[in-house]
Amino acid sequence: MHIQGPRIHGSKVQVYKVPTDAPEADGTFAWDSTTMVLVSIEAGDKRGIGYTYADGSTGKLVKTLLEKVVEGRAPFDHGSILQDLYRQVRNSGETGISSMAISAIDNALWDLRARLLDTSLVSLLGSVRGGIPVYGSGGFTSYDDAQLTNQLGGWAERGFSMVKMKVGTHPDDDLRRVSVARKAIGESTDLFVDANGAYTVAQALALAQAFAQASNVRWFEEPVSSDNLVGLSKVRARAPLGMDIAAGEYGYTAWYFDRMLKANAITVLQADATRCGGISGFLNSGALCWAANTPLSSHCGPSMHVHVCCAVPRAIHMEFFHDHVRIERMFFDGFCEPVGGVMCPDRTRPGMGLTLKEKDAERFLT
Ligand SMILES: [Mg+2]
Repeated sequence: MHIQGPRIHGSKVQVYKVPTDAPEADGTFAWDSTTMVLVSIEAGDKRGIGYTYADGSTGKLVKTLLEKVVEGRAPFDHGSILQDLYRQVRNSGETGISSMAISAIDNALWDLRARLLDTSLVSLLGSVRGGIPVYGSGGFTSYDDAQLTNQLGGWAERGFSMVKMKVGTHPDDDLRRVSVARKAIGESTDLFVDANGAYTVAQALALAQAFAQASNVRWFEEPVSSDNLVGLSKVRARAPLGMDIAAGEYGYTAWYFDRMLKANAITVLQADATRCGGISGFLNSGALCWAANTPLSSHCGPSMHVHVCCAVPRAIHMEFFHDHVRIERMFFDGFCEPVGGVMCPDRTRPGMGLTLKEKDAERFLT
């Protein structure tokens, strides 16, 4: 194939709003639906898809960016397209919605390039492993004890070695809820908690000790706001031995991750390829983690991460988030079901291996 390959001759964005299967809440927010912004980009006889979970307004920006920057370009000039995308959003800011729009486009371009080469994305990136462990993630603060027990216990029964629950909405009840979860999953499954920044430093420090002692909690995510790097580093410094402090899900740029790593604020960095500049941004976060000797874990959207997480040396596990798993299973033929708690990209399928089930998705179009 000529190195430049065919040019992009078609692109579109679709916005889907999917109601949750039950009311959901974490330490700082409550929601009843999830919005997926899906981008398709065509070149030759191939179509690449990528997406972000973002506000519906992101779709409007994606449309503008596709028309102004992406159409007519060569997919193998991906690097130059990315530079132009960032120039295009300079005046509105590179973070937030801009970064989520660019992430969805970047993911579609990676998928398209792999399809044009008729190879899987993990093969194009260069695999370091055949599969990556996932942790079941849900345990919303809106759940009663039975819902919490069923969901987390179900994942443990399915062979997941780690599960995560939300805390922080009712701090006085958190220790009890965490003990309910521990009882549901038994002793051999690691238990993670995520406060979504709900606690003060003092509350987080007290609860870190209590969670570890009473329920052997191994991971404390965003114990305080992830913007509070001083607070996070205080929690990290005094956390019980063997408890990871994790954050990074709201990181949009490499500079953000670099600041977080340099502040000694975390022991595991989280990055989200649907927010941080797509697969390209996720690779950058992997390079920063390499240099900082820090493990990396992916946040949400498992189907956008399974290939890249098998190609980034520092990646240790992925989040198998209830809402997104439900949507990705419903929307995509080729969704990878974890086996024994490990998700393996299907290297026999081109790109990310996903085909949109148009008929199943259609009723959620906005
Ligand atoms: Mg989180």
